[in-house]
Amino acid sequence: MTDIRGRFAPSPSGEMHLGNAWTALLAWLQVRSRGGAVVLRIEDLDPDRSRPEYAAQILRDLAWLGLDWDEGPDSGGPCGPYRQDERRGLYAAALDCLIARGLVYPCWCTRAEIRAAASAPHPGEDEGAYPGTCRPGNGRVAPPGRRPALRLAVPDETIAFTDGVHGRVAHNLAHACGDFVVRRADGVHAYQLAVVVDDAAMGITHVLRGDDLLASTPRQLYLYRLLGLTPPAFAHVPLLLSPDGHRLAKRQRGLSLAALRARGVVATAITGFLAHRANLIPVPEPVRPRDLLAAFSLAKLPTEPVVVRDEDFA
Ligand code: GLU
Repeated sequence: MTDIRGRFAPSPSGEMHLGNAWTALLAWLQVRSRGGAVVLRIEDLDPDRSRPEYAAQILRDLAWLGLDWDEGPDSGGPCGPYRQDERRGLYAAALDCLIARGLVYPCWCTRAEIRAAASAPHPGEDEGAYPGTCRPGNGRVAPPGRRPALRLAVPDETIAFTDGVHGRVAHNLAHACGDFVVRRADGVHAYQLAVVVDDAAMGITHVLRGDDLLASTPRQLYLYRLLGLTPPAFAHVPLLLSPDGHRLAKRQRGLSLAALRARGVVATAITGFLAHRANLIPVPEPVRPRDLLAAFSLAKLPTEPVVVRDEDFA
């Protein structure tokens, strides 16, 4: 055994689809191929989007795929609880540390106000950097009756790290995102804060997740630093895309695991397909995850998005 610890961190906001299976398989292989432990944490922070029945189905789907875990909401473990909903006290304590150091300020901006005030983002970008409207000293007066979000003030500093798939990645916090939300106006702690608190508290040494979170990592590294925590090694794998270039979102039900199963696709066919797209096997033949342990290497993984067609499972 080694001290390597990785995790699955699914959000139970929909059915598990092929893209989730891709990330889970690769995260499992990265850790298990080195004799490490796998933690399953349900990221159900957002009460509006999370459903316990989706969480239960995700556990069943992961097991159906042949992926196992050492600690999780079903089996328990020394770092529990393993549902974010039950860990809010830890996020509040971390936030208190940041507040006590004067690093956090209230922000009353609505999304529309931020969009209007921020310099126009480049096409395809989600949002520009937060323009600092509510930063102390900018003269913002609290609008009556509106509850504030809490934002962390970030320095004009470039945070660099070595990604296991992409190599060196560097983002300037002030330019890339600006001061970011650590607690929403409705009182829910932000993903960025919760994921750092949890990965550190659970002793996670290796995080493998989708490219959609690459831009979050510098923010998270900054939080690790402020909270005096040791960050894990990060690897961001390309997303699976439909032929029209969209992410295999949860709403594209044809490629949910439940839909594939209903079409008679067996779990080993799914892992074989994914392993082939990950360049771990030469042809997409049925395999179990544990048959791939010897073949796994981060260096083999593609760096560009992977296109999946419905006919791939005809
Ligand atoms: N809960 C996130 C998701 O399902 C993953 C977070 C992470 O891996 O850091 O997209």
